[in-house]
Amino acid sequence: MPNHHIVSTGTSDSRPGVYRPTMDNILTFEIEDRFHVDNPDMEPLEARSRIIPLLIHLLDLLDEQKANATFFILGWVARKFPEVVALIDSRGFEVASHGFTHGDVRQMPLDKFRSELERSKAQLEEIIGKPVRGYKAASPYLSHDHLTHYRVMAEAGYAYDCSMVAEGPRMGSQIPFSISANDDRSVMVIPQSTSRKLGVRLRFGENVRTLPGWLGIRLIKNLNDKGLPAMVNMKLWELDVYHPRTASQEYLHYSEYGNLSLGEEKLRRLLEYFRFSSCSDALEHWQKQVPQGK
Ligand SMILES: [Zn+2]
Repeated sequence: MPNHHIVSTGTSDSRPGVYRPTMDNILTFEIEDRFHVDNPDMEPLEARSRIIPLLIHLLDLLDEQKANATFFILGWVARKFPEVVALIDSRGFEVASHGFTHGDVRQMPLDKFRSELERSKAQLEEIIGKPVRGYKAASPYLSHDHLTHYRVMAEAGYAYDCSMVAEGPRMGSQIPFSISANDDRSVMVIPQSTSRKLGVRLRFGENVRTLPGWLGIRLIKNLNDKGLPAMVNMKLWELDVYHPRTASQEYLHYSEYGNLSLGEEKLRRLLEYFRFSSCSDALEHWQKQVPQGK
């Protein structure tokens, strides 16, 4: 069993000058092609998917760095490439839902949103044969204005969500909390990692590719120093170096660890610096430390 399943505190690394992380942060990926973002409601037949070579490279990188992660997979991807879902699960990572299409759920009628949640969950569960607990919306974020969406998530059987930018007291907005549905079900919200400077809220956990590397590290450390995990999320296509060329060229490139994309450079740096776990492991750890009320 790979040791990236274990959530723990402290580290045995005692080399002088090496940063010693005191807690696990949370790492998530959105498994989608760039064309899903550009054409959220379409299923472009001509576009060639880049998911498989990028994913194989990413899984190897995570194993090499002993990091665990949660993969939010589009139902569209699961239907077209069930082997992608099976591979992620078989390598010991958490499979979760990114909806079915990449449409903005804030603009969607609620019955379509419900259908996206239920279809993607069923599609993923059929492949891995176990419950899918987590969801992350394809919208940039949800807020306290979308409580109805959270009730629908709870009704659809999701245990947690990673879509929210939470408002509230300065630190309270970064702490996981529960939203209850009409029945006795509830959804745990793991808020996106943000930092407020000069009145501007920076969603740094979602933007590690575009932020200077030192700033990403500093903002994660700031949260950890306050006893809170940061949540880092990347889209799979952020790790892509090339625009599509031939499949053999691409695979050779990735298998040789050639030029890194900016996204991969940033991710590697974070993996070397911090420890990361999946959402479910982090929530379990959190709930042991802080018993949650509804
Ligand atoms: Zn996405």
